[in-house]
Amino acid sequence: MTAQPRDGTQTEQPRMTTAFAGRHVLVTGASRGIGWAVARAFAAQGAILSLCGRDANLLEQRRTALAGRHAAFVADLTDPAAAARIVELAIAAQGPLDVLVNNAGYGASQPFAKMASEHWDQMLAVNLSSVFHVTRAAIGGMLARKQGRIVNIASTAGLTGYAYVAAYVAAKHGVVGLTRALAREYASQGITVNAVCPGYVDTEMTAATIDTIVRKTGRSAEEARAELAKSNPQGRLIQPEEVADAVLWLAGDAAGSVTGQCIAIAGGEVMP
Ligand code: NAP
Repeated sequence: MTAQPRDGTQTEQPRMTTAFAGRHVLVTGASRGIGWAVARAFAAQGAILSLCGRDANLLEQRRTALAGRHAAFVADLTDPAAAARIVELAIAAQGPLDVLVNNAGYGASQPFAKMASEHWDQMLAVNLSSVFHVTRAAIGGMLARKQGRIVNIASTAGLTGYAYVAAYVAAKHGVVGLTRALAREYASQGITVNAVCPGYVDTEMTAATIDTIVRKTGRSAEEARAELAKSNPQGRLIQPEEVADAVLWLAGDAAGSVTGQCIAIAGGEVMP
């Protein structure tokens, strides 16, 4: 991780190093928010990126904004075949996969008593089943080489409960469970599997949550943002770069003995 402490108010450019030189890193949901910060951080350390998302234009902009030999793959990861296919395409184009970052996801709220089964299915498909399909497609190559790093972007919602987001919470708890199970299954195979569990991060997903609060409560956007920041004992939103730092550390050589861990990045909000 970078040694310099952050107070959440700065978005510094990553320093160029070669810690991941030549390593192939696939990041799902790489077009925006946390995934884009993760992609930038790996690229700054020499990695070869496979960027995945649904928006072809935005992904292409992201790919060209990064210096180096990177590729972009478009898929809706709620489609199991498409999720597996991007892994195959990425390996065919960029070589064996060293690091998989399962980041794509989306949170939406519905009171449980009125929850539509479509909402439940959608939350599980995008946040949990996508991780299953992408990881299952990637694991064979990692097992064959007896090396690999898998980092799942779960959430504090994978470690504790929150009202009105039961489906999202259930899906993220599933990601935490999957992380722990695979860590045990592959501990002797040179593969580590970990998760990071952020609190509210300053991204478009949180902006959508703020919009929902404004719409449903009549509060101002500033009040809604302050309310979310209050859930973090440090009284602020997490910056995407702070999540990226933790992902890079887990994927790096120094974290070789760390597996099955689900690290909260939430200013002390949850202490598992
Ligand atoms: P974001 O800014 O909304 O970005 C989400 C990314 O996921 C985008 O690149 C999006 O790309 C991609 N994506 C969404 N649905 C997809 C689908 N069906 N198929 C393929 N790609 C899809 O969100 P974020 O805040 O960075 O969140 C990233 C991850 O962190 C999610 O798993 C989220 O649950 C988790 N997380 C977020 C927070 C937070 O407060 N923001 C807190 C804890 C955990 P396209 O739309 O272009 O496809």
